[in-house]
Amino acid sequence: MTPAETAALLSFAAAFDRRTLGEADVLAWHTVLADIAFEPAKAAVTAHYATETRWIMPADIRQHVLARRNDTAADIQGPGLPAAIPDADPDDIPAYLAAVREQRTRAANGQLRPRPVRELLAGVGRQAPTKTTQTGPLSVECPYCGAGPLHRCRRGDTGLLVGFHPSRIDAAKSTA
Ligand SMILES: [Zn+2]
Repeated sequence: MTPAETAALLSFAAAFDRRTLGEADVLAWHTVLADIAFEPAKAAVTAHYATETRWIMPADIRQHVLARRNDTAADIQGPGLPAAIPDADPDDIPAYLAAVREQRTRAANGQLRPRPVRELLAGVGRQAPTKTTQTGPLSVECPYCGAGPLHRCRRGDTGLLVGFHPSRIDAAKSTA
C-alpha cells in the first residue's frame, strides 16, 4: 500500500481504538506494511476488532493477510481437493512449472476463477499439429494454370487468382 493508504488504514484502526495518530506512526506502520495491499489490510483490522479488544499492531495485519493468502491458495490446490489444470503442455516442464506457479499466485491473490468445464474438456486429447495436412485445391497442381501444390492459382503472368480455377477444384475433389 502507499503511505496515504497506510494513513487511511491507521485512521480506520483509530476509529475502533481511539488511538492518536502522527506522521511518525504512519511512517512506522508503512515500513512494515508497504508490501501489503490496502483492502486485505483493512479486512484484517475489521477481523481483529471483531474478536479482540487489544490494539492492533502491524504484525497482526501481516499475519492475518498472509494467513488468508495461504487459506485461499489451499482452497484451490489443497490436499484432497482437485488441483486446477495449469494452462501449459505437461511435456514442456519449465512452462508447466511456470504455469503452476503463476496459477498459485493468482489463487493466493483470490484472482483465480474456475474455468468452465466445457472449456477445460475442449483441450483434452487435443494434439499439437506436427505437420499441416493440406486438403482442398491447394493440395493438388492446377491443371489450368500449372500452379504447383501449396501455390496459389495464377492469373496471367503477374497476378494471383482469388480462389482457384474450377478444374483445380475438380481435381482436388477427385483425389479426396
Ligand atoms: Zn489455376
